[in-house]
Amino acid sequence: MTEQPFSAATRRAQLVTLPNEMADLLVIGGGITGAGIARDAAMRGLRTVLVDAGDFGWGTSSRSSRLIHGGLRYLEQRWFRLVFEASRERRILRRIAPHLVRPRAFVFPTHEGSRVTRWEISAGVWLYDILAAFRNVHWHRLLGRRGVLRIEPLLRERGLTGGALYYDCQTDDARLVLANVRSAHRHGASCLSYVRVVNLDKADGLVRGAQLEDAFTGDRFSIKAHVVVNATGPWSDAMRRLDEPGAEPLLRPTKGAHIAVPQKRIGNTGAVTLLSPIDGRVMFILPWGEVTIVGTTDTDEVVAPDDVAANEQDVLYLVRSANAVFPNARLGMDDVIAAWAGLRPLLKGGGERTATVPREHRIIESASGLVTIAGGKLTTYRVMAAQTVDVVSRRLRALDGRPLPPRAPTDREPLPGGEVRDLDALIDELTKEGMHADVARHLVGSYGTEAKAVANLMAADRALAGPLVPDGPWRLAEVVYQARREMALTVSDVLVRRTHAFHLRADQAVSAAPVVAQLLAPELEWDADRRAASVASYLADVERMRQAFRPRAPA
Ligand SMILES: Cc1cc2nc3c(=O)[nH]c(=O)nc-3n(C[C@H](O)[C@H](O)[C@H](O)COP(=O)(O)OP(=O)(O)OC[C@H]3O[C@@H](n4cnc5c(N)ncnc54)[C@H](O)[C@@H]3O)c2cc1C
Repeated sequence: MTEQPFSAATRRAQLVTLPNEMADLLVIGGGITGAGIARDAAMRGLRTVLVDAGDFGWGTSSRSSRLIHGGLRYLEQRWFRLVFEASRERRILRRIAPHLVRPRAFVFPTHEGSRVTRWEISAGVWLYDILAAFRNVHWHRLLGRRGVLRIEPLLRERGLTGGALYYDCQTDDARLVLANVRSAHRHGASCLSYVRVVNLDKADGLVRGAQLEDAFTGDRFSIKAHVVVNATGPWSDAMRRLDEPGAEPLLRPTKGAHIAVPQKRIGNTGAVTLLSPIDGRVMFILPWGEVTIVGTTDTDEVVAPDDVAANEQDVLYLVRSANAVFPNARLGMDDVIAAWAGLRPLLKGGGERTATVPREHRIIESASGLVTIAGGKLTTYRVMAAQTVDVVSRRLRALDGRPLPPRAPTDREPLPGGEVRDLDALIDELTKEGMHADVARHLVGSYGTEAKAVANLMAADRALAGPLVPDGPWRLAEVVYQARREMALTVSDVLVRRTHAFHLRADQAVSAAPVVAQLLAPELEWDADRRAASVASYLADVERMRQAFRPRAPA
């Protein structure tokens, strides 16, 4: 399939044509759930429109632990079906997006007196591999005390009884969303970011479209659609209330926070699953380039999804938990590079403890036909999408008698950039053309086969081959590529979700913000004011985030 632009110009053209069209399906919410639905529906031939109030993936889908996993800890809750399904999805996603879904070994150490014993972990990892139909990345290994320390020499030795080595996958959540959105676009869907649904339109008592507002201009317009899907994650109940003001809440959102610290400060060599000594919850220490990500918290939250952020208490909990397992680290608040949080859009139910709230999903149709998909996980998005589009297809058949389309091969068609089996061969190709190996590895890891397109921009204009920030892997050409092919519309779109420099650099790469704005300006037809406003908005994002670990002294 030839690559089409996916840029501000694409968005502008869609804003002109869409109000005059009748779509089959309007999907509200461009997180992983909505992006997956738009891709599936467009592949089935439905005329599909996807909108998000912010950037694609702006909500929970860019704030996850970035794991494509069966969910080892769900075995404790006996959620065997979920683990089985998620393990199958892990296999499928490795196949369709090998650049974005990478195998990762996890050490799970056990200590005397910890909530889960060595023997329980042994049984757990056996069952985990069995539920993956013996097709996990690799078979697990049980480890003695010495075996654990050989892999993670800086782990707490006192009371260490052994552990296990098991496998899951790591992903780039925001880029996985983007890959799905772009695939939807390739299949004919119209996908617009920074367009908020402010009301639902009804005709004869049925939801038949929505009123929307463009975040950049404030312009309001309508989109008509036979079926409307509410895929707004933690905002789902708010959207349902636009349809039925008295609708009972479906969700019990819980907040999850992460911190990033320099890998050298913790000294982990790889990924570690641990039980927090504070409350016994399962947590992760995750390598990500030069930083280590520690997460997560899991707390009931009353804050509106727009305002969710990590706070000082979250950061302290994560720092203390990491210190208990890596005692030589002695991490303090000063070591924290970044802190962020998202809301899990979990279904109501389960027990008192947040860990027992079900991770399943549910699709419900309101009396006026609004289809809401709630709950679920990043890992299982493809299944959730297929089931939702089944419901949509049945509604379309009931409305106008059209035949049900066959299910889409979303499990076989690679996501953009994923048309490759051997990533190393791709890296070799770029290095043979003269690219530094670290840069080649970074580009292939982010863009897969499309790394070539970024390399072409660098070759055509040598100035674009320079680094975005000193010593960072990112190239200036990526900003141009992201504007032209990934609909980057703001400085934050580039630095927060498409590069993650925001999460990875102690200075949040603030000095790169004006450079990004300068590169975006000709692509987005910005004048000096728009440039300055986009930089200021990024600096405000940085300031908000830093409150959690560098609180201002009281005046
Ligand atoms: C801390 C944390 C860690 C997690 N880790 C993992 C993990 O490692 N692996 C895993 O599988 N899952 C994980 N999850 C779960 C997973 O991240 C979520 O289930 C998933 O991202 C939810 O995606 P979503 O598309 O449903 O919601 P979101 O990503 O929140 O998307 C909803 C979108 O709707 C948009 N929207 C809202 N209102 C409107 C409106 N009026 N008009 C237009 N658009 C609107 C928002 O802007 C938003 O982009 C984690 C969750 C959290 C919080």
